[in-house]
Amino acid sequence: MGYKPAMEIDLQHKPASQLSARHTLLGKDRLQMTASLREFGLAEKPAKMRSNQIFRWLYHQGINDFSLMTNLAKDLRNDLAEYFDLSRPEIIEKLVSTDGTRKYLIRFAPGVEAESVFIPGVGRSGALCVSSQVGCTLNCTFCHTGSQALVRNLTAAEIVGQVLLARDDLDEWPTPSAGRRITNIVFMGMGEPLLNLPNVLTAIDILSDNEGISISRRRITVSTSGIVPQMAPLGDQGKTMLAISLHAVTDALRNELVPINRRYPIAELLQACRQYPGASNARRITFEYVMLKGINDSDAEAKELVRLLAGIPAKINLIPFNPWPGSPYECSSWQRIEAFAEIVNKAGYSSPVRTPRGRDIFAACGQLKSESVKKRASERLREQQQLNP
Ligand code: SF4
Repeated sequence: MGYKPAMEIDLQHKPASQLSARHTLLGKDRLQMTASLREFGLAEKPAKMRSNQIFRWLYHQGINDFSLMTNLAKDLRNDLAEYFDLSRPEIIEKLVSTDGTRKYLIRFAPGVEAESVFIPGVGRSGALCVSSQVGCTLNCTFCHTGSQALVRNLTAAEIVGQVLLARDDLDEWPTPSAGRRITNIVFMGMGEPLLNLPNVLTAIDILSDNEGISISRRRITVSTSGIVPQMAPLGDQGKTMLAISLHAVTDALRNELVPINRRYPIAELLQACRQYPGASNARRITFEYVMLKGINDSDAEAKELVRLLAGIPAKINLIPFNPWPGSPYECSSWQRIEAFAEIVNKAGYSSPVRTPRGRDIFAACGQLKSESVKKRASERLREQQQLNP
């Protein structure tokens, strides 16, 4: 099949004057993008070809302006720009920590804001922690986001948009084949990703596509508080790494710390982990355990943790609690954390203690957003006072 000139193959698209609403192409995988271009009016073959080209512009080059997509005919570019909106969400606040952590507060629409955090790693790796919802319904008592009401699920475009914005900020376009700063994506920001699974799965398809951002599924980790029925679909379709927000070894305590445990208790959760598609010694499940002084940090609890995880290819992340104003817990002492880690290590589990990052920039998830909400509230109050002195 020889190449056909653009004018000929794109002949069927509707002139801009006949197009009214603006649609988005962001957040669509290549198949969905082809379908959108079909709706726009391209025939099947050109739609497929154009979607491959546009996908590369958006996600490999980082371009969000049709006029710069030079392998598309000029009139087609104009009409696409009339029909499709490629605009990204907006970073409304950025904080950079002395340790290099960057925290972004992102506005998707008026009143719809969430956070993402870039965490530079040791050596050449760096992780971007993305949000999947604005707020959260699950009310984990140690989590600052849990104290905020759920606004809504983020769309696939909004999830991918967080990566695009971080790549813009880190000046990481076109997608580098080596020496990247964002090497990993973790769904550990605001919200419970498995309560927004369809959008999370589409976002994963886009982020892992080799023609675009090209982050391997093995470098994408989805963290759940334990929405058991959605774990197998995540493994089957998303093929990502899995992390579990465990934090307690008895149902009584976990019911309190992670209330969804009342619905999906520890035994059921661990059974779903044993059956997680693709879990193996090379692809271990991460168990997150936040260290809360006098609550879950005894030697007996460390031993019980080891017993519970027997037979699961696991690693354990001990997370020093990062208090926020008004939080009901304190962080365990370093001595206690070390003693806990030693028991877990001796049992053969790798259990790195996650170094607290970005403490100087409100690094606990949800803090920046709540500062922004407070600020808006105080601005409103000031405005009211100015109007009614
Ligand atoms: S830890 Fe996760 S699931 Fe629990 S309240 Fe916070 S954001 Fe929601």
